[in-house]
Amino acid sequence: MAAMNTSATRPLDVCIRGGGPVGASLALALSRLGWQVGLVTPPAPTRSGPDVRTYALNAGSAQLLRELRVWDALPADAITAVDEMQIDGDAGGHLEFSAWQQTVDALAWIVDAAALDAALAEALRYAPHVQRLEQNAPAALLAVCEGRDSATREALGAVFERWPYGHHAVAARLVADAPHHGIARQWFRSPDILALLPFDRPQIGHSYGLVWSLPEARAAELMACTPADFEAALDEASGGAAGTLRLSGERAGWPLMLARAQRWIGPGWALLGDAAHAVHPLSGQGLNLGLADVRCLVRVLHDARRTSPWRSAGDERTLRRYARERLAPTRMMGTLTDGLLQLFAAPPGPLKDLRNHGLTLVDRLSPVKRWLAARALDT
Ligand SMILES: Cc1cc2nc3c(=O)[nH]c(=O)nc-3n(C[C@H](O)[C@H](O)[C@H](O)COP(=O)(O)OP(=O)(O)OC[C@H]3O[C@@H](n4cnc5c(N)ncnc54)[C@H](O)[C@@H]3O)c2cc1C
Repeated sequence: MAAMNTSATRPLDVCIRGGGPVGASLALALSRLGWQVGLVTPPAPTRSGPDVRTYALNAGSAQLLRELRVWDALPADAITAVDEMQIDGDAGGHLEFSAWQQTVDALAWIVDAAALDAALAEALRYAPHVQRLEQNAPAALLAVCEGRDSATREALGAVFERWPYGHHAVAARLVADAPHHGIARQWFRSPDILALLPFDRPQIGHSYGLVWSLPEARAAELMACTPADFEAALDEASGGAAGTLRLSGERAGWPLMLARAQRWIGPGWALLGDAAHAVHPLSGQGLNLGLADVRCLVRVLHDARRTSPWRSAGDERTLRRYARERLAPTRMMGTLTDGLLQLFAAPPGPLKDLRNHGLTLVDRLSPVKRWLAARALDT
């Protein structure tokens, strides 16, 4: 099969800007339906080393990646099923979910971000209708998937409202001396939120993806300190619940914010993924929301082509359906994660007891738990 083209040779239906996980998935999904796609990626990589993050992906994202033949191409140790999730507050509050209770195969899958990038890139090489471009080519629709700092979004005049948290996420890979048993652990405290995501790289059954959200100054200290000091801070923060944790590679940091575009679409253009919305990673939902955008836009475009073939892919009436469908779930996820964060960011006081009781109460209320789990399982 032919490798992906590097120049525009056929008229395009859709020109996609940004080859991150959202842009790459959109290109593959449209190509499968026979759409001619151009994918504009920066000439030089924007990241210096491999992505150390692990993504918690939900059932909807896994299904999309399966259909794109990306999921099954991932190495076995790059995907780990989460069987149980344990969430602790800062004064005895506790909430836990299990796949068994929710009658699902897994609560989520922890996926190696670098392996996902590589599998998407490999699938794109063989995608029949995708042309790699260095700049925009004429197309009925411009799909902007450039992430939260998108320059094209700015050029289109779509205002991106940002509410920085003053926190950074520190991500790293860890190895534990005790098995993870498929349990994801999260601690909600003031001022940090710590997540340990069970993983199988580098050591099967004994590794974790770390996402630690901390005030900027503390995050900077933890990024700069020696591995031994970092591990000591981590042991103290996790209280040894996951065994003794050791760093197994580089640390990386990201500034965190809640953000959303005021407009998602316009004549001939649409925003997807982090270019349209950014949420705090405490919910592990940013990419899940972006892949749900992809599923929605592809379905809306495909339906419109079947029912109104005379309409262009950039027709605003069609794109409005996409924006309408995606706005509510995205806002809800942003509000939910932001609310949780604000609740636990409050200094110790009456709220401390309330939030911990709240966690434990949710744990005892099966319908609320089911509702929360369903929201997280499919965005
Ligand atoms: C620490 C951390 C942990 C996270 N954990 C999770 C998780 O567990 N689960 C989850 O669902 N989400 C998670 N997320 C969120 C997730 O990383 C993002 O939602 C996701 O990467 C968004 O994908 P994207 O393709 O929209 O944007 P990006 O990943 O930002 O990709 C954008 C792409 O566009 C390119 N680009 C930028 N400008 C241009 C331009 N002008 N022209 C062409 N190309 C351009 C960039 O080079 C990049 O390749 C996490 C985020 C962080 C920071």
